[in-house]
Amino acid sequence: PFEVLVIGGGPAGSSAAIYAARKGISTGIAAERFGGQVADTMGIENLISVPYTEGPKLVAAMEQHVKEYDVDIMNLQRAEKLIPAARKGGLHEVRLANGASLKGRTVVLSTGARWRQLGVPGEEEYRNKGVAYCPHCDGPLFKGKRVAVVGGGNSGVEAAIDLAGIVGHVTLLEFASEMKADDVLQKKLRSLKNVEILTSAQTTEVTGEGGKVNGLQYTDRTTGESHHVSLEGVFVQIGLIPNTEWLKGDIELSQHGEIIVDERGETSIPGVFSAGDVTTVPYKQIVISMGEGSKAALSAFDFLIRNSVD
Ligand code: FAD
Repeated sequence: PFEVLVIGGGPAGSSAAIYAARKGISTGIAAERFGGQVADTMGIENLISVPYTEGPKLVAAMEQHVKEYDVDIMNLQRAEKLIPAARKGGLHEVRLANGASLKGRTVVLSTGARWRQLGVPGEEEYRNKGVAYCPHCDGPLFKGKRVAVVGGGNSGVEAAIDLAGIVGHVTLLEFASEMKADDVLQKKLRSLKNVEILTSAQTTEVTGEGGKVNGLQYTDRTTGESHHVSLEGVFVQIGLIPNTEWLKGDIELSQHGEIIVDERGETSIPGVFSAGDVTTVPYKQIVISMGEGSKAALSAFDFLIRNSVD
């Protein structure tokens, strides 16, 4: 068994594995796909001290850093079930899709999240070529340009307010007849001069030309008419789904399916910690995930020195 078993190989998991291994304790990391969301990212400009890098380059650097230590890396392994230790300080078991099972005296869950997609033509084709999911990451790329935000919940309206300060014009499209965001956010959004709000608007296609987004097609659900908006960017803000389907019923999750953690990164199960986008910690970013991963590993180490029973 491992002293620290990390599940998930994105920034949070990589950081947890490095911090654990540096304590000289046996560490394993199992990931469905090492690198996580970073592997799907183009330019990264907000990893402090690295003014610019690209996803695949950062993934290679993370992997190389983990390999500096005695960490058992198990890539292409999907966890399917967590069986918590019967008593505090006992071994937790994680069952894998391939039938094998791993054991850890502590576990760090860092399985991340995925953006809910619109599922319309053009979205996949123009991903990273105008279609974006993270305003904190990609907002500045659209300085002075016209963008759409799809989704009128809190994240969509926050994104639209944020983007309105950077880009030239924002069109917010909400499928329902009213936005779902908190009133205070809606009020703020309506006060902005360079924002147009379209409700009962169903986005049907992201259009493009020459390998770049040039607009968005939507249907007005009250009239059934189809319209085209010319713009350079589309921010999809219809939800971030935590990868916790496999944990339901075994660990305490928020109403959004995120793993509930305390300030030390500990979950509802003693000895099981969690970090990164999969948790209730707000603001889903690389630098935050790395920090949270190191915190979870240090908490796991602390747990081990206080609960060494057998
Ligand atoms: P993830 O990166 O999601 O990694 C999760 C890991 O868990 C992966 O290895 C995955 O394969 C694995 N996993 C999932 N389920 C299982 C399972 N059941 N069993 C085993 N393994 C599993 N942030 C920034 O700070 N700057 C940016 O510029 C930026 N740009 C982005 C661009 C895009 C297109 C996207 C999608 C995200 C971007 N982000 C950016 C957000 C950033 O990528 C995430 O905040 C960060 O990757 C979260 O790290 P994580 O380790 O928590 O999770």
